[in-house]
Amino acid sequence: MSVVTYRIIRRRVKYPRLEVWGNEIWIIVPSNVDPWRVVRENKRWLIRQIEIVRRAVELSERIELVPRTRRKFRSLVERVVREYAKELGVEVNKIFVRRVKSAWGSCSGRGNITINAAAQWLPERLVRYIVYHEICHLRRWRHDREFERLMGEKFPDHEDLDLQLQAYWIKLKEQNKTCGGP
Ligand SMILES: [Zn+2]
Repeated sequence: MSVVTYRIIRRRVKYPRLEVWGNEIWIIVPSNVDPWRVVRENKRWLIRQIEIVRRAVELSERIELVPRTRRKFRSLVERVVREYAKELGVEVNKIFVRRVKSAWGSCSGRGNITINAAAQWLPERLVRYIVYHEICHLRRWRHDREFERLMGEKFPDHEDLDLQLQAYWIKLKEQNKTCGGP
């Protein structure tokens, strides 16, 4: 049995996009594009992702969710946001903790930070990783080289952290603690 689930998602996007969520690979295409063409064109990338999904599934069987109340989680997020905003010299407007689909966090142009409530169950280091990513967006809007440099300096083990996040996503989904549908 394959560990990977593929989803073909028709959405009003300009360009086809591939996303990996837990053990699912999403092929997001506009209505006039053949999803299988996108698969063929990204074969090498997909093969690499399938291997990563396999590792994430394995890891998901070995990790434990962290029991923490929503209140405790909120205060952790607020503390870490303040710490990193100071460190990076940026202003954060509002902080939201709420259930969101298919994202650990997001950042708005107004300086509002949203963290997925599902991250409540994650170890502190992963929460910090998610928060730092969003705060970095207040310095660099795009995932460009400078952004990658900022992230890499603070979290040199980001590849491992990404794998852990993927494993936690799988675990949380199994326990219906995400609203992770496309
Ligand atoms: Zn980002």
